[in-house]
Amino acid sequence: MAPAKDPNTLSNHLEFSTTHTAISLTLSFSKSSLYGEVELTLKTLADDLKQVVLDTSFLDIKVVAVNGKGAKWTVGDRVEPYGSPLRVDLEKAVNSGDEVIVKVTWGTTEKCTALQWMTPEQTSNKRHPYMFSQCQAIHARSLYPCQDTPSIKSTFDFSIRSPLPVCASGLPTGVRHFVPATSPSEPGTLVYTFRQPIPIPSYLMAIASGDIANAAVGPRSLVYAGPEELLRCKRELEDDVETFIKTAESLIYAYEWTTYNVLILPPSFPYGGMENPCITFATPTIISGDKSNVDVIAHELSHSWSGNLVSNASWEHFWLNEGWTTYIERRIQGKVHGDKHFHFSAIIGWKAFKESVELFGADHEFTKLVIDLKGKDPDDAFSSIPYEKGFNFLYYLDRLIGREKWDTFIPHYFSSYRRKSLTSFDFKDTLLSFFSKDVEASSVLANVDWDTWFYKPGLPEKPDFDTTLADACYALAGSWQALNSSNSSFKPSPSDISGWTSGQIVVFLERITDFPTPLRKHLIELMRDEYGFLKSENAEILSRFLTVGLKAKDEKLYRKTAEVLGRWGRMKFVRPLYRLLNECDRKLALETFEKNKGFYHPICRGVVMKDLGIS
Ligand SMILES: [Zn+2]
Repeated sequence: MAPAKDPNTLSNHLEFSTTHTAISLTLSFSKSSLYGEVELTLKTLADDLKQVVLDTSFLDIKVVAVNGKGAKWTVGDRVEPYGSPLRVDLEKAVNSGDEVIVKVTWGTTEKCTALQWMTPEQTSNKRHPYMFSQCQAIHARSLYPCQDTPSIKSTFDFSIRSPLPVCASGLPTGVRHFVPATSPSEPGTLVYTFRQPIPIPSYLMAIASGDIANAAVGPRSLVYAGPEELLRCKRELEDDVETFIKTAESLIYAYEWTTYNVLILPPSFPYGGMENPCITFATPTIISGDKSNVDVIAHELSHSWSGNLVSNASWEHFWLNEGWTTYIERRIQGKVHGDKHFHFSAIIGWKAFKESVELFGADHEFTKLVIDLKGKDPDDAFSSIPYEKGFNFLYYLDRLIGREKWDTFIPHYFSSYRRKSLTSFDFKDTLLSFFSKDVEASSVLANVDWDTWFYKPGLPEKPDFDTTLADACYALAGSWQALNSSNSSFKPSPSDISGWTSGQIVVFLERITDFPTPLRKHLIELMRDEYGFLKSENAEILSRFLTVGLKAKDEKLYRKTAEVLGRWGRMKFVRPLYRLLNECDRKLALETFEKNKGFYHPICRGVVMKDLGIS
């Protein structure tokens, strides 16, 4: 099948393909911008071509050269939401197989959507500024000129000049002093270099710089974090990371990226995590103090195969990245903790899946597995649907073919598309051809209704998940409900939840929150004393327990909520707590926001202001 045009890029990626990207950057914290040079090595894919078109978005393009000579170029009008095409004229036509080297000198502008520049106040020790990038889905073009499509993969060389330590999505190759040639530079800057020898798409280009230290958490893994948090992060991730890597390797094949590191971002990071190659960027709320949120790492690690090594060819096939990753993450959980945990995670996922479908509406385009993104922004389509519908499709195939045979397909699939990008149709062809000689498997596969799976909106049929772990949560919540409404003989004790995972406690607390009558205040106190939730450093648990208290208008928990709201800036926790505190004690909610607004990420700050009705 001929490669298809990615509708979310303005580049001519069917005519040229980037094979190597050499990027040289200077960070300016004082200007909240970066500038530099990028050299793209392009392979020509067709004959008689006279122009290279690259993606840009709000970039300040200064100079363009082709094969070492100044070139004619124009930046076209902006096309929302895709940015402005940078058209570079070639002096003479090139033909299939020819190499073209395009070098662009540029800077980012204040409209850059890929970078977050943080003031010292927004970091944990509040001493130095901080910056990090987030390029997925189509923000790389606002960081540097490129072919911003996951169908194109290139190797990378990074050279990044900064006054503070730098991380990037490659292997570190050195640090050297910067010697200014002519112009004076910011004092004390060093040049950090990295190499990514495995071809990666533009959306996996990542950089971060700030007061960052590192420590080993396994034979091939480091954790990067602020110096004050480093030991706590190390204790949290130690051992488990390597266990996850080994488990994933047993399911697929050897880890290819040499090192698997995790960068714990400042507490104001508004999101969960991003699977940048060699170095996952993660929220500090995964460091819970009790190792119970470490499974998030199993997800990001799984992307090392699904997404990073084998990538969706366009965002219309995003389920190939996230569905596969969710499937592998749950298989890792099943292998490490037992099969019940595979099912429990799938049950939690199904709930999120159902809520996303309800939010879009069951007939919505974005509730399909394969979606139409022509003219649309992939960020608008983002939800748990590609994760969970994708997972459920793969789990359906797993049950249909049988675990033993299905498990032989997994390494085959990841070998077939290693270092490549693919569409859902490539996936289908590969699966069918792999089992074509197996009469039994191919006869069951003949029954797969591909069109329904790919294009029918809404929920598929719900599988029979093993509810062992969830049943215990529902049963315990039921006992509390009985206690809340009558003189039940139930006597809570710490043993009720001993051995429970953080996920089980979350399911239990969410069930309590759904009670028609809020928990009576003396029972909240009893729960606090018997289960110790208020002392939990786990944001997932503490935020849910505070929710139980706020729903019951328990004044004793208002101050604690206000304190917690200054601790993390992850929107998943901050937004619901502000909404509830506002209902309980508006004055305190406003005071708390006023005190912490400088700490929050601008996106988080903006939505909380909307939630609180202030401007
Ligand atoms: Zn993911």
